[in-house]
Amino acid sequence: MTSPENRHVCLAGPKCRNASVVEGKKTPATTEAPDSLCTGCVRSVQRATEYLPRDYVALSQAVGEKARAQGQRVKSSPARQAPLNVAVVAAMQDIAEALDRAAEVVSDGLRCDPPDGHEPTRVSDAAVMVSTNITKLLTTDVVECWEWQNDTHCEPNCHPERCDDTQHLRWVERTGIQFGLRLRKLHQSTASVIGVLEKLLKLSIACAHCADYQPLYQYPDSGTVVCKECGYDWTTETFGLLGKILEQETK
Ligand SMILES: [Zn+2]
Ligand SMILES: [Zn+2]
Ligand SMILES: [Zn+2]
Repeated sequence: MTSPENRHVCLAGPKCRNASVVEGKKTPATTEAPDSLCTGCVRSVQRATEYLPRDYVALSQAVGEKARAQGQRVKSSPARQAPLNVAVVAAMQDIAEALDRAAEVVSDGLRCDPPDGHEPTRVSDAAVMVSTNITKLLTTDVVECWEWQNDTHCEPNCHPERCDDTQHLRWVERTGIQFGLRLRKLHQSTASVIGVLEKLLKLSIACAHCADYQPLYQYPDSGTVVCKECGYDWTTETFGLLGKILEQETK
């Protein structure tokens, strides 16, 4: 029997892949080394990292050219309903930024340069660098980096110029494991965004608010009709006018 002092638990905590339920309580798997992830979590972080470039491409295919060409950081505040395109572009930025940060950590350890160049090539290069050196990432101790956080007020560690009402760029301390778990979380949340997008029904009518004839989409579960481009909710108007002229199409 291992004595409690020698037992370490997976730092993924309740999100541990190999967690077991002990007396009704979710308990993370034990690990050999302290402050580490269990083998199941290491593998799942690695697989998520490998998959993120495909998530990025799938998201990019789901939004219009216009949304992608914005170039600036977009805001997706959980407080208000953002147009779908804004949420999707924000998810793409989150993936690119998280992979950039993780690749910087790994390249520091390997004493080489992180991938540069444009997305989506940089995104896939960073994912290859991180996933093939996953141990390097997950054994990295504390590093300091800039991180965007949703919040309503500035803290002393905020960037002097980049903040606005809802998003703050802050100088924070992160461990390699935190970077890794963030990559896994991003892959999971993207999967649910893509799941919603794939179910959307494309209607054969254009949004009257958008000058360039953006098609309207309907959520099959709620029946809500929205414009992905401007976010306007056309549900009441559309049903009054058209009933259900639907084209089963996704993108
Ligand atoms: Zn685990
Ligand atoms: Zn701030
Ligand atoms: Zn519109």
